[in-house]
Amino acid sequence: MKLHRNHVRRACQCLVALSFIAIPWINGFDIRIVTGNLLSLEIFGIPFADPLAALQVFFSTWSLSWTVTIGALLSLTLAVIMGPVFCSWICPYGLIADLMQKLPFVKRRNRFSRGWLFKAVVVGIVVVGLGAMAFPPMLNQLSLPGWYTRTMQTLWLSGTIPAGFWLLPAASVLDMAGGGHFWCRYCCPQSLLLQAAGLVLPRRFRVKYDASKCICSEKNPSPCMKSCPYGLDPRERKIHPECTNCGDCVVQCSHFGSALSQGFGSRK
Ligand code: SF4
Ligand code: SF4
Repeated sequence: MKLHRNHVRRACQCLVALSFIAIPWINGFDIRIVTGNLLSLEIFGIPFADPLAALQVFFSTWSLSWTVTIGALLSLTLAVIMGPVFCSWICPYGLIADLMQKLPFVKRRNRFSRGWLFKAVVVGIVVVGLGAMAFPPMLNQLSLPGWYTRTMQTLWLSGTIPAGFWLLPAASVLDMAGGGHFWCRYCCPQSLLLQAAGLVLPRRFRVKYDASKCICSEKNPSPCMKSCPYGLDPRERKIHPECTNCGDCVVQCSHFGSALSQGFGSRK
């Protein structure tokens, strides 16, 4: 069997999901090369922070520690160069949502191609409005990668399951009812800043389409669109900022005309 990039992506997702089961266990032996969860993580002393969590802390306290600032900037820098790859390569809920989409009754639907804009407005109001009233970072309570990793920590520390864990099956039910990755596209606040960061550079790593090589331009939906976990049509420019650079459409296209590729390029 030929090794495609979607196999590498799946391996990467599984490795991350398994790592966050192992990290609290290793920490129990006082080995602390990696500590924390997907809201705030430290790897060999290098901090990584969820940019939205950092923003909420800033708006509720009007200050931010250097560690959190650097951690958030590191996460954003990855998104500036590669787009929101966190969602398709790292987030444990991204893995769950991908696997659920394999179920025959879960459809890939692209209902509102600008759904992320609605999400951005709601999240912006909550961050600025509640933050200005000095509320604690409430959107962290909706972080599925956060709850996956916090659940593993709580399980090892106290043998209990935190109430927030139940958001994971609840989001899965929403995905089943509303179409694959419904939570990610229309509800998850954590992906927003990563998507916005992906718009900063005119040239960055992205999916590129060469219409002259496309042998299924008349097909709608095209095979590449059918393979996209988010129901996007990679032949269109409006896939940004939602495209996570998962590469599934490129692998699918390679069985046809190789009109899709990934590399550094502009949105045009
Ligand atoms: S949109 Fe949110 S839940 Fe979905 S993969 Fe991205 S960070 Fe994870
Ligand atoms: S357009 Fe292609 S690379 Fe982007 S999310 Fe869809 S399948 Fe993945």
